[in-house]
Amino acid sequence: MGGSPLRNDLARIPTYAPSALEGITLDLRDNVNLWGMPPAALEALRSVGEDVGRDYPNVSAGALTTELARQLAVAPENIVAGCGSDDVIDACLRAVGAAGARVAHGDPSFSMVPVFARLNRLEPVGVPLRPDGAMDVDGLLATGAPFIYVCSPNNPTGTVTPRAELLRLFDQAPGMVLLDEAYCDFTDAHDLRTEAARRENVLVTRTFSKGWGMAGLRLGYGVGGARLVAAVTKARGPYKVNALAERAGLAALRSDADWVARVVRETVEARTRLGAALSGRAGVRVWKSEGNFVFLEVAERAADVAERFRQRGIGVRAFSGLTGIGEALRIGMAPWPELQRVADAAAEIWP
Ligand code: PMP
Repeated sequence: MGGSPLRNDLARIPTYAPSALEGITLDLRDNVNLWGMPPAALEALRSVGEDVGRDYPNVSAGALTTELARQLAVAPENIVAGCGSDDVIDACLRAVGAAGARVAHGDPSFSMVPVFARLNRLEPVGVPLRPDGAMDVDGLLATGAPFIYVCSPNNPTGTVTPRAELLRLFDQAPGMVLLDEAYCDFTDAHDLRTEAARRENVLVTRTFSKGWGMAGLRLGYGVGGARLVAAVTKARGPYKVNALAERAGLAALRSDADWVARVVRETVEARTRLGAALSGRAGVRVWKSEGNFVFLEVAERAADVAERFRQRGIGVRAFSGLTGIGEALRIGMAPWPELQRVADAAAEIWP
C-alpha cells in the first residue's frame, strides 16, 4: 500500500556527512597525517600492474594479517583487517550484539559508535568521562551492558585511560570489551594488542589512517582471541580490504616503521608546542591530549570560533553540547611551519 520500505528507526540515525568548507588551505578537521604517506607504501601503489584491478583481492587480507601477526608475535587467527577500523568496529558490534542489546561507551567519545550500534539494532548507552578525561570504568561496568566500547587516547578529548584500569575492565566486564587504540601511535600509555589475543572477550582495534598516513586507502584491524576474531571476520564479510590497501599496508609494515616513528615524534612535538601557544588564552582550556590533535574547551560558541579560523583558511572541528564539557574545538596536527598559522590565528582570535 505504498508505505516506506525503509526501517522506521532509520530517520533517527544521523548520516555522517561532514560539510564542505569554503576557502580552506589547511584542513585540520580529520586528524589525518599531514606529513604525507610513508614512502614504501607510496612506491607500492606506484608499481602496481593491472592485476590489482582485474583480480579480487585476498578474501581477508591474508598477507597483511600474516605480517602483522609476525610482528606482534600472535597468530594470524588473532587478527581481522577491514575497510578502516570503522569496518572492524561495525562488524564486531554485529558479530557480538544480540538485537536490542546495550552498548555502553564513554561520552563524549568516537561519534560513530552510537551510530554503528543503532545501525546494528543495538542500544547505545553513554557514560560520562571522569573529570580527568579517563573512561569511568566503574560507571561502564555499572550499566551491566554486554558490550562495552572504550577509546584511549579518546577522540575527541585526547585523554588516556590508565592501562591498569583497562585491564580491570577486561577482567570485570560481563561480556565483550572493544578497546579502540586508533591514537595509540602517539602515546606510550598502553598497547594491549597482544593482551587481547590472549582473551576471548576483548578486541583491540588499530588504524592505518593516523600515524601510518593511509586514511584514503581505508585500512584498519582488530586483535583478539581466535574465536572472537573468526566471528568478527564472518560478520565483516569478504574482500573488505582492497588490493591497493593491502599492498600499501604490507609495504609500510615491512619498510616504513622508521618514517612513522619520525612523523610520530614530530606530531608529538607539534602537539606540545601548539598546546603551549593556546593555553593561558582567555576563555580557552587546553586538555592534555595524547592523540595527534589538540583539544580545547572554549567559553564562546565553538562554531563561531571555528568560523574565525575558517576566515583565516584553517579548518578545525567544532563540538557543541559535549557531555560535561560543552563547547570545544579539536585541531589536528601538521608539520610545524604550517601549524604556526594556527598559533598566529589564535593570537588574533584570543589576543
Ligand atoms: N576510532 C577512532 C577513535 C577514530 O577517531 C577513527 C577515525 N577518526 C576511527 C576509529 C576510524 O578510523 P578508520 O576507519 O579510518 O580506521
